[in-house]
Amino acid sequence: MKLIFLGPPGAGKGTIADLAVEALCLPHISTGDLFRAAVKDGTPLGLKVKGIMASGGLVPDELTIELVKERLTRRDVEKGWILDGFPRTVPQAEALEGIAGVDKVVNFDVADAIVVDRLAGRRVCRACGKIYHVKNMPPKKEGVCDVDGGELYTRDDDKEAAIKVRLETYRRQTAPLIEWYGKKGTLLTIDGVGAPAEVLGRFEKAIRK
Ligand code: AMP
Repeated sequence: MKLIFLGPPGAGKGTIADLAVEALCLPHISTGDLFRAAVKDGTPLGLKVKGIMASGGLVPDELTIELVKERLTRRDVEKGWILDGFPRTVPQAEALEGIAGVDKVVNFDVADAIVVDRLAGRRVCRACGKIYHVKNMPPKKEGVCDVDGGELYTRDDDKEAAIKVRLETYRRQTAPLIEWYGKKGTLLTIDGVGAPAEVLGRFEKAIRK
């Protein structure tokens, strides 16, 4: 099954994808994670995108499409994938059509106020990438990952100024994809508000239909 997770930053796409991959046995492909890994490793791509990401803007389409094209040639994608955070623009969606078919596009519907609270409280493990929230999903010990004891940090783009830019960018460049995929008949919109297990349940019900 080939799935796209669509929705504003902080809609819970990464959290639900992490939970869903176990049930569906599909790789979770997050362009944000791929870019963050490039930044962490200091690759030429990482150096190009570091500033753009920190400010909350979008990486140019050509670089992003190239990255996804390469990722979708690996062997683990044979049975499908969950694409999280791609496409984010209409040109990216058009390019994806030339690379692979898509079964369902899952749109996580979450109001702006909730998104801001989720992003500002999000903490991520520096070692394994596991996502926490200071109130909604706290680690057992403050600032420390439950899985591997890694340090939890706040992403640069989860700081207030960048959150504002990301939401504006989402509205202007990514939200039009809801209508775009709606016309193609592959869109499923689910309520993204609530505990991760609740949202996962809605997602599983929706894709079984
Ligand atoms: P995310 O983890 O999905 O919130 O992505 C973090 C950042 O990576 C975004 O704010 C962008 O700067 C960049 N990024 C991730 N996916 C894309 C994409 N499909 N197109 C352009 N930039 C992206």
